[in-house]
Amino acid sequence: MKKSVERFNEIIREKKLIDVAISALHWDLETQAPKKGLELLSDVVGYLSSKSYGVVTSDEMILLVEELKKKREELTEIEDKTLEEVGKEIEKLTKIPVVEYREYNELTAKAQGIWAEAREKNDFDLFSESLEKIVEFQRRFIKYRGYDGHPYNTILDDYEPGMTVEKLDEFFGYLRKELVPFIKKIKEEGKEVDGTFLKKDYPEDKQMEFSRFIAEYIGFDFERGIISESAHPFTLNYNKNDVRITTRYIRNMLSSSVFGTIHEGGHGIYEQGIGDDIAGGVLGEGTSMGIHESQSRFYENVLGRSRAFWVPIYGELQGKFEALKDVNIDDFYRGINKSEASLIRVEADELTYSLHIMVRYEIEKALIEGQVEVRDLPKVWNEKIKEYLGIEPANDKEGVLQDVHWSAGLMGYFPSYALGNVYASQIHAAMKKDIDVDAALENSDLNKIKEWLNQKIHRFGKLRKPEELIKEITGEDLNAQYFVDYLKEKYGKIYQV
Ligand SMILES: [Zn+2]
Repeated sequence: MKKSVERFNEIIREKKLIDVAISALHWDLETQAPKKGLELLSDVVGYLSSKSYGVVTSDEMILLVEELKKKREELTEIEDKTLEEVGKEIEKLTKIPVVEYREYNELTAKAQGIWAEAREKNDFDLFSESLEKIVEFQRRFIKYRGYDGHPYNTILDDYEPGMTVEKLDEFFGYLRKELVPFIKKIKEEGKEVDGTFLKKDYPEDKQMEFSRFIAEYIGFDFERGIISESAHPFTLNYNKNDVRITTRYIRNMLSSSVFGTIHEGGHGIYEQGIGDDIAGGVLGEGTSMGIHESQSRFYENVLGRSRAFWVPIYGELQGKFEALKDVNIDDFYRGINKSEASLIRVEADELTYSLHIMVRYEIEKALIEGQVEVRDLPKVWNEKIKEYLGIEPANDKEGVLQDVHWSAGLMGYFPSYALGNVYASQIHAAMKKDIDVDAALENSDLNKIKEWLNQKIHRFGKLRKPEELIKEITGEDLNAQYFVDYLKEKYGKIYQV
């Protein structure tokens, strides 16, 4: 028995080493690799993915899992949960032929570069062939893997275990019913908010300095992490001691780097806070993308877009940029919370953000069902944006080409963002029972907040499922009302409605 557990852990370690190599290549592909290097690096990613697949689905590993499953009561909690995760992974992978798995991983590694070029050139046709193949793979893999209810449930569960189309339809239905009339009210009766100063001149080098400062300020540990640049901000972790975040610097858009950095910093803090007992193992990472997004969006919005957050550090920011010279903290606070229908998801305000997610959710569902084809996406996208936000993209760069996700094969992922918003406000309400969050912010005591999150969320990694975690912290299941209440209170005050 002891021997089996040891061997099981050895194989997991071997897989982990290959996976870290794959992550390192992804990091390179997305931050620095030259365009013409794409071909070779993508092949290496494909090759290593098939190796990783081979290690975890080997006959030896399958037998070990079978054997250990029979002796679960003898395992520690960590061993048992690891076994559960690995069992799930094996079940998923063994249904997909290895040749197709490798091909798919090569394809998605390549497609990210192709997407970046298509986006830059504002040319959907450049990307559509790759995307067609990706969607084909997705549909086929779901068939192989099987599904309960809606086919989309299978890929949804990859990012948010336990989530289903049925639950999401209700969830989004509620948000839509509550938020759409409130947004309309603000537009019609709200006091004018000026955010134009945020689009003035903000030299990139100064933004870069401030990004580093703010990441460190919120608690991102630079001894165990770095910050870099990429077309689409993201976080990548090898383990808790090597966590990498990116942001982007746009000269006339201060919010992009500031809030992008705080957002990715929130993801990074989660990964750096994983418990030592599970670090490096299968359980040693964020439990779901929804909980991950709750951490990033908690830092970005609940903290980063509050007035209290800026009280001790607004002077630091103001001192860096001529454009803020005559903007006081109250105007700054209102400006960074200006709500308006906009086209780019990552720049959207908290209030309209969920509508962007609903558009993507509906499109993905339809793609998976085969009701929409890739070639029609630009048209379908623009129609849906018009329906939800009342505005229309002038081109695909600010429409269907704006997000990296589909090129990376991340379908079923977008709902995590909306769930993250809701988890974040629910967690915020629980945190306020234990600590005075505003006072901590005004005193620059970000550590107090981080420690609370470390204790209640981060250290558990995948030891707790999202549902268990949220219930343990808040005493309730996912409850979208917290988010709606939070938005109505905050924006009600800002817009005086
Ligand atoms: Zn995120």
